[in-house]
Amino acid sequence: MKALVTGGAGFIGSHLCENLLEKKYKVYTIDNLSTGTIENIRHLKKSQSFHFYMDDILNEKIMRNLIRKVDIVFHLAAAVGVKYILDNPLESIKTNVRGTEIVLELANDLGKKKVFLASTSEIYGKDRNGAALFKETDDRLLGSTTKWRWSYSCTKALDEFLSQAYYRERKLPVVIGRFFNTCGPRQTGRYGMVIPRFIKQALLDKPITVYGDGKQTRCFLYIGDAIRAITAIAEEKKAVGEIFNIGNPRSITIMELAEKIRKLTNSKSKIEFVPYEKAYERGFEDMRHRKPDISKLKSFIKFSPSVGIEELLKRTIKYFAG
Ligand code: UDP
Repeated sequence: MKALVTGGAGFIGSHLCENLLEKKYKVYTIDNLSTGTIENIRHLKKSQSFHFYMDDILNEKIMRNLIRKVDIVFHLAAAVGVKYILDNPLESIKTNVRGTEIVLELANDLGKKKVFLASTSEIYGKDRNGAALFKETDDRLLGSTTKWRWSYSCTKALDEFLSQAYYRERKLPVVIGRFFNTCGPRQTGRYGMVIPRFIKQALLDKPITVYGDGKQTRCFLYIGDAIRAITAIAEEKKAVGEIFNIGNPRSITIMELAEKIRKLTNSKSKIEFVPYEKAYERGFEDMRHRKPDISKLKSFIKFSPSVGIEELLKRTIKYFAG
């Protein structure tokens, strides 16, 4: 089998490429290195089955050449990370909307190649009345368009609609995975992600920056589990045309997370509370709780998260500590 992984030098993308190579796939990847790095894929470049193109998914010519070669496209290239979206508003919208349009158009025209679309739990927006367990058919609750965070949710929702439209009207085989917070080695804190940020701060004995009151909760899925889920639903025939939450339903408060990381790194860091408007921008809206309902995923593939938060943190700390 031959696969194209867009965004293959990113955190999830590089782990996916690695896994596909282990499964004897021939892997093509395109990445403009806006948030991904060569470091993430350096070890893969030794393989004869791995082909890296440093280019943009908006380059239709190169995308045509690549999609022509493969059986399946894992479309992971996107502007991600709350901070990155706030700092790069226009580029984020273009990459997320036009980029996906190009992937779908070409996958359809070049022989109806299967597409796995990476979507996000940002789709759901804010949690309502403390009911934090999100399932695929739930309503979305977004803030005003003056609050820039929600642009990301909108671009990915449009990606989901586009993919489903190609499936419904053109019979293009698409599968959509909505990632909840995913973490592990190679994730960078540069674009806001909490675990790599806390680990770096703790390893340097610098203050651990907890935004808001720290009582907000998140659920973290280990990258290895995420990869198992992606490849299994991409291979599952019955999953075509469907949307799946991909996450770990075990939640933790951000304060508890900070304390755990401080303990596991034997750090002398203090915990510092930072107001949201200082951390992001005025009027920033965070969601209090976010937890995936993964019963649909479990009903289509054999899946349950195998790595808990403690082990996830240990492995990620080991990566950062070198
Ligand atoms: N967060 C924090 N300190 C940081 C970075 C993030 O307290 O240095 C919080 C953030 O406000 C959110 C949670 O950690 O409540 C998860 O943030 P992240 O950006 O990793 O993912 P999100 O779930 O917001 O997409």
